[in-house]
Amino acid sequence: MGDKSLSGNTITFLGTGGARFAVTTQVLASGGLWLNLNDTEILLDPGPGCIVQATKRKLKPDKLSAIILSHRHLDHSADVNIMVEAMTQGGFKPHGRLFAPEDALSTEPVIFSYLKNYLAGVEVLQEGKSYSINNISFTTPLRHIHPVETYGMVFKTAEHTFSYIADTRYFEGLCQSYGGELLIINVVFLEPRPPTSSPLTPSEHLSVPDAKSIIMELKPEVAILTHFGMSIWRARPWEIAQRLSQETGIRVLAARDGMKFDLSQLNNT
Ligand SMILES: [Zn+2]
Repeated sequence: MGDKSLSGNTITFLGTGGARFAVTTQVLASGGLWLNLNDTEILLDPGPGCIVQATKRKLKPDKLSAIILSHRHLDHSADVNIMVEAMTQGGFKPHGRLFAPEDALSTEPVIFSYLKNYLAGVEVLQEGKSYSINNISFTTPLRHIHPVETYGMVFKTAEHTFSYIADTRYFEGLCQSYGGELLIINVVFLEPRPPTSSPLTPSEHLSVPDAKSIIMELKPEVAILTHFGMSIWRARPWEIAQRLSQETGIRVLAARDGMKFDLSQLNNT
């Protein structure tokens, strides 16, 4: 019908910075991912500056159907309140749902209660559950190893399956839960760091060698690295991606602030 070619099927990176220093200096932006999947628009992990990045790129928050938080850390949730305000036009157009883990909503909620009232609903993310947003479904296959309750997601559209591996330490069983033609991986460290329990030196993040193992194991058509810490930024993410492409034989891209990835370049599921 020609409709399909007109409909949007893109992922826009409103930021590629991760963890504290890349984000507090804004060396890299930190607005999260804006998904447009067959014209269903979903905002994922609106970190600091999301509202600035989104409006600058002419994205329309009132078109969003949902906002999803993988976890409550500031670099994933800081702009959730302003984005709910923008999505609902200050409460004049109540709609949309917020998806977040229980610990982002309970004792110290990331969302103000007066803004919560503008939403059509709030849904709690749990391990092994499936959710739907219009014609899109997603699952949160397993809880990650990270200082707060954290989930990655597998998204399914009529044509595509792709995974978002949010913040986590690498662990046995991580790969089995994810798949699809496209893999988006949050990679904070250049080199692996030993796990630590100190909240002052959180090291529960993936490194470049971890990302390489995941890519080799899951063999997506395309892998996109994002959420870079300073060590990766200094080592030039695009060069790391090029090296990983050569070493794995898989097309690996380093996301850039504002990059728009068109899902139509992937083969159908
Ligand atoms: Zn985190």
